[in-house]
Amino acid sequence: MTTKEINRLIHKAEQLCAKRGARMTPARREVFELLASETGAIGAYELLDKLKGAVPNAKPPTIYRALDFLQEQGFVHKITSSNSYVLCSHFDHQHPVQMLICQQCGDVQEIQSDGVYEALKKQAEAQGFIVESQTIEAHGLCKNCAS
Ligand SMILES: [Zn+2]
Ligand SMILES: [Zn+2]
Repeated sequence: MTTKEINRLIHKAEQLCAKRGARMTPARREVFELLASETGAIGAYELLDKLKGAVPNAKPPTIYRALDFLQEQGFVHKITSSNSYVLCSHFDHQHPVQMLICQQCGDVQEIQSDGVYEALKKQAEAQGFIVESQTIEAHGLCKNCAS
């Protein structure tokens, strides 16, 4: 992502926060910006190291609180299988998440398949289960690593 694109995303996120009455503090903004400049997913401690460049007294709770906030706002997805975080590319609407995770270079791509979402929801409902959110993580090789 170019600096211009990152700034545009941050601006969009700040506008959404303002509309929701949520507060984008400087630390949260900084974490958002760090995630935006990553191509793949990144772990909390790696993020903390980077955050220290801008916020020298940043501690683990600083990063976890910021990540919680960004997740609540739908700006960031957590990848449970690798315990890392990735910026959501279309955070202005709630959506089911399907992530393609490259196990070689760590690249993460988000796709949105309504078919997958509906199929899972239907089968869950057949079990009497109410789905509130869905995150599907697929592991494999990205285009660059597979060729
Ligand atoms: Zn997303
Ligand atoms: Zn790859």
